[in-house]
Amino acid sequence: MALIVQKYGGTSVGNVERIRNVARRVVRTKGAGHQVVVVVSAMAGETDRLLHLAQEVTRIPDERELDVLVSTGEQVSVALLAMVIKSMGYDAKSYLGFQIKIATDSAFGKARISSIDSEKIRSDLDRGRIVVVAGFQGADASDNITTLGRGGSDTTGVAIAAALHADVCEIYTDVDGVYTSDPNICPKARKLSRISYDEMLEMASLGAKVLQIRSVEFAKRYDVPIHVRSSFNDHAGTWVCGEEKEMEQVVVSGVTYNKNEAKIELMGVPDVPGIAARIFKPIADANIVVDMIIQTSSAEKGFADVAFTVPKSDFARTLQIVQDAAKKIGAPEVHANEDIAKVSIIGVGMRSHSNVAAQMFSALAQEGINIHMISTSEIKISCVIDSKYTELAVRALHDAFELDKPRVAEES
Ligand code: ADP
Ligand code: ASP
Ligand code: MG
Repeated sequence: MALIVQKYGGTSVGNVERIRNVARRVVRTKGAGHQVVVVVSAMAGETDRLLHLAQEVTRIPDERELDVLVSTGEQVSVALLAMVIKSMGYDAKSYLGFQIKIATDSAFGKARISSIDSEKIRSDLDRGRIVVVAGFQGADASDNITTLGRGGSDTTGVAIAAALHADVCEIYTDVDGVYTSDPNICPKARKLSRISYDEMLEMASLGAKVLQIRSVEFAKRYDVPIHVRSSFNDHAGTWVCGEEKEMEQVVVSGVTYNKNEAKIELMGVPDVPGIAARIFKPIADANIVVDMIIQTSSAEKGFADVAFTVPKSDFARTLQIVQDAAKKIGAPEVHANEDIAKVSIIGVGMRSHSNVAAQMFSALAQEGINIHMISTSEIKISCVIDSKYTELAVRALHDAFELDKPRVAEES
């Protein structure tokens, strides 16, 4: 008997028929003699609908109330799934985050899980019950409802698996596993049979939304094996697990894109010590994470231009903060651009190869794609481009690094 946590994403519970399909899969696992905890997302499109509703009410919604609103999507799914499972003659019980004490900090909209009280779940499991948990949500120390950021149900799944020392966390989604790039825009993308936690962390942080980054952080820290697979077939998926030696042989292992960032530019900033701190301190104080930052000399001597990117979900708030800061420091112009995308190549083998960046820039140049910003680390290179070229760029990079060819370790 194994203890299995199964997480089903929005598409997998997108309508009543699909919820029945999930119930059948859950019951099959239970029937095979295992203990099962199921974590579910909101029905496809529901979280977006709720976010739009809030936007209709006010441009910058109160963050606490926004979490009260968006957490309701998952409440609907857990109730429906538990009802169907019960109607099939199995014992099941649904829980919201606060009911099983998924404790988080108070960072509304991107809260971090600090602990989970696994007692209740364990006693239900011991009674033979299937436990159905709402993904994406928790509660802070003052009992405020919090949510974990987009894709947060993955993190709920892995965190529960870690708390229960489950044998595996199965992430059921609408693709067969983790691919070398998003299979929905890159037809030549190849499914990986396994990927290391570190590579998956990079892929997730650079836009591969198949797993939320924090779920991979949890999995790595607590050594939870993740099996990403489809809820629509029984194909073997991708195992996300500890690093294996042969994985280091590939220079580039994946291509990702992220259309969820926006660029803000301050023009004509006085080029004196302390200015960057005056721009970025209030942004950090608002709990907003800045990604790429570039400072260049202005045409006018003694001045600089500063450009940076932030998540689109924080864009309106950041712009307000930056406009205030610009007035205070005497920067005359603030420009904003939401039509950007960041394309990245990732690979642990990159650190020992010198020409990867040049190859990436040439592949983009050949398609006539202009690069606005560049950032590099030991194992990734990212370029900001116009968002209309995203698909073209991803396919060109996938071709340039021949990612459709199997890794050495996968050929056997
Ligand atoms: P769910 O609703 O099940 O959580 P998501 O939409 O969050 O599903 O994540 C699955 C999607 O991730 C896929 O439909 C695919 O378009 C996208 N994706 C992006 N990059 C990758 C990748 N490298 N491998 C697999 N899927 C990817
Ligand atoms: N429903 C949330 C979202 O759409 C959480 C999730 O699906 O993982 O982001
Ligand atoms: Mg998801």
